[in-house]
Amino acid sequence: MTKTALYRRFRTLLIANRGEIACRVIRTARAMGLRTVAVYSEADAGALHVSEADDAVLLGPAKAADSYLNISQIIEAAKQTGAEAVHPGYGFLSESAEFAQACADAGLVFVGPTPEMITAMGSKSGSKALMEKAGVPLVPGYHGAAQEDATLAGAADKIGFPVLVKASAGGGGRGMRVVRKAEELSDAIASAKREAKAAFGDDTLLIEKYVDNPRHIEVQIVGDSHGNLVSLFERECTLQRRHQKVIEEAPSPTLDTAGREKVCEAARRAAGAVNYVGAGTIEFVSDGKDVFFIEMNTRLQVEHPVTE
Ligand code: ADP
Repeated sequence: MTKTALYRRFRTLLIANRGEIACRVIRTARAMGLRTVAVYSEADAGALHVSEADDAVLLGPAKAADSYLNISQIIEAAKQTGAEAVHPGYGFLSESAEFAQACADAGLVFVGPTPEMITAMGSKSGSKALMEKAGVPLVPGYHGAAQEDATLAGAADKIGFPVLVKASAGGGGRGMRVVRKAEELSDAIASAKREAKAAFGDDTLLIEKYVDNPRHIEVQIVGDSHGNLVSLFERECTLQRRHQKVIEEAPSPTLDTAGREKVCEAARRAAGAVNYVGAGTIEFVSDGKDVFFIEMNTRLQVEHPVTE
């Protein structure tokens, strides 16, 4: 990404999204004195985000691939309306390095991380390798490139059961299996690979020590393009169903001041390792004593208002 695109001031912001997040970004942009441009599909012509924005551009038919995921149409909409910056919201193209790059190539400020940061943090395995180097605490595990069954089995033995088999490209709890005994491992690997391939087109797995009764704690962070990075405290996300968060609470009732500072410091170190720019979230599991990095989301989240 070129420096000019990253640092340039802008007056008009296009929001490449719909629904709640588009409305939320539009309201904040307006409060900052920016002009806003909405984009929409044919199905959303009457949607709130369209009427709330100063200008709106029809992208195409209802199917996401023809509208909210259509990179060239969105760039075209920005050009048509004089937008100088693009906010991706969450979902859709918000974690697409290709989209961030396309914005940069078109001279548009992408409100979020650079394509390099999205790619670096987009893989659970790759990001863990980076975090290891930066001295961020990790759950004991294997996140190497070799994926033969024997390598994975050897890693699981070394880590010690129970282990958690995870898809490196995973999200939404898919491609994840808790394995309590060695004899259950090869079936779990095969089915996690199948699920990961079908859901993400990538069946790379990692193996982690399974933390029994884990607490899930995450820290929201924001970095700017001048090298400033702050942590905005934690959310407690332990109440889950099928590894998916159900209720989030801030601040976490399980942390004291020292515990809070420890997890926030780990989050700043994690984001600092890639000189992160934009809003993001660093996720940790905790065994009640220590916290361990599991992944980073390089975008706004639906639950950021819990913190705010
Ligand atoms: P996804 O990206 O699919 O949501 P995560 O890696 O974020 O996957 O994990 C989802 C949830 O699974 C976490 O919130 C946590 O509850 C649980 N989890 C993840 N890693 C571990 C682990 N090593 N031990 C125990 N539970 C874990």
